[in-house]
Amino acid sequence: MLEKARKVISYLKKQGVEYADIRLHELDEEESISTLNGDIEDYQLNNKQGYGIRVLMNGAWGFSSSEIMTLEAMKSTGDTAIEKAQSASAFIKQPIILAKKETIIDSYYSPCEIDPFTISAEEKITRLLTLDKQLQHEKFEYSGVHCHFYKRHILYVDSDGSEITRHLMEIDAGFFADALDKDGHKQRRSFNMPQNTEGTTGWENIINDQQFDHTLRIRDELLGLLDAPLCEKEVCDVILLPEMMALQTHETIGHALELDRILGYELSYAGGSHVELADFGNLQFGSNKLNARADGTLANSPGSIGFDDDGVKARNVTLIENGQLQDAITSRQMIMEANAKAGRQIFDLSGATCRSQNYSNLPIERMNNINVDFGCDGSLEKIIASTENGLLMETPRSWSIGSNRENFHFATEIAWKIKDGQIQHMVRNATYRGDSLPFWRSLDKVGDQSTWELQPVFHCGKGQPNQIMRLAHGVPACRFSQVQVGE
Ligand SMILES: [Zn+2]
Repeated sequence: MLEKARKVISYLKKQGVEYADIRLHELDEEESISTLNGDIEDYQLNNKQGYGIRVLMNGAWGFSSSEIMTLEAMKSTGDTAIEKAQSASAFIKQPIILAKKETIIDSYYSPCEIDPFTISAEEKITRLLTLDKQLQHEKFEYSGVHCHFYKRHILYVDSDGSEITRHLMEIDAGFFADALDKDGHKQRRSFNMPQNTEGTTGWENIINDQQFDHTLRIRDELLGLLDAPLCEKEVCDVILLPEMMALQTHETIGHALELDRILGYELSYAGGSHVELADFGNLQFGSNKLNARADGTLANSPGSIGFDDDGVKARNVTLIENGQLQDAITSRQMIMEANAKAGRQIFDLSGATCRSQNYSNLPIERMNNINVDFGCDGSLEKIIASTENGLLMETPRSWSIGSNRENFHFATEIAWKIKDGQIQHMVRNATYRGDSLPFWRSLDKVGDQSTWELQPVFHCGKGQPNQIMRLAHGVPACRFSQVQVGE
């Protein structure tokens, strides 16, 4: 396959392209299993092969993809990409320029101990049904467990001489239970399996009780919620646990700092960003306790892919340092466009975040691991003990974001009232809201490493046509002061 890819790139160069790359998905397997109320709800096993060819010609992109893997078909797909670039070049306002990058000949392997595709469907279903049974209770309406396994072997070759192979494994696993509370309204508790940053991504996670089997805790929390008092409307401190911190970070740091969005590319779909080019190096985004990064170099995460679809090696980029905005989520094309628009060099190298959903999509800027560093305010217990009046909140239930990510309103599945440094009781239908910048500036406690967790996100949507991306957020427990809750 490598020989074919080289020949296609050589052919495209002879046609006069300024740049070309081919991404070959030699293997692209997905397996999905879900259970519902003690039975199999869904089982799917999909396998496909294909490739996408991207060319830059006359200052414009052209892209085409195919599943026919012969050399002739590849050349023909390349011809289509060239035709599209030529057509598009008539409409561009400014020619696309790509930032410099290294020529790379390398490989990347997701760490994996037990390949889930070597485990029989029967064994997988048995494990899921065991967990489903543990979740069940006579007061519950529904309970279910799901696992999705993704395995891809991708070969990337470009006209600059880079040749990169990637062997990626990702697992999305979790469960939920639903019940009606004393007022007849639905309550849910769910669990999203975090990534083991020191470990591996394979079947070994699913059979590890410590990693995956939190069913009895989740069942008991849902039972407690059914009779819990409603969240009162007030202004108080909120402590967000990692599942909730992941959403907060995703929506108000991650999406807000995608450079294509800042340049206006997502306006017609999922909105823009309140961040402007003039803000980099100048804007106090959060309190001085806030340090955030786009870290594609973490060992084990769906946000760690070794090299992006521009062929740039993963980097660990500081986005926010001591609260001040420093950098963005960037690709080769967008940093050049942003620098030109700003009339100064804000960005130097690509952050290696140009990714596509699969071979049939053009890559765009996507989050990798958008993390908040753990801090030095101690354990969760210590933060709770220092809170006079607050709410401890966990797991997104619903979310609503301003069109420029400037404000938000989030509901959590569960919360606990804190009074005078102690947890008093569980709270139902908890919500909080805020304006993004004042909210991050109110960050006054950042938990230590014991509170930090890598929470994966498997369904981030962006782009037209829409592309679903898999990524993660490494986040500690954090406290924000004087937040509006319960409305
Ligand atoms: Zn998203």
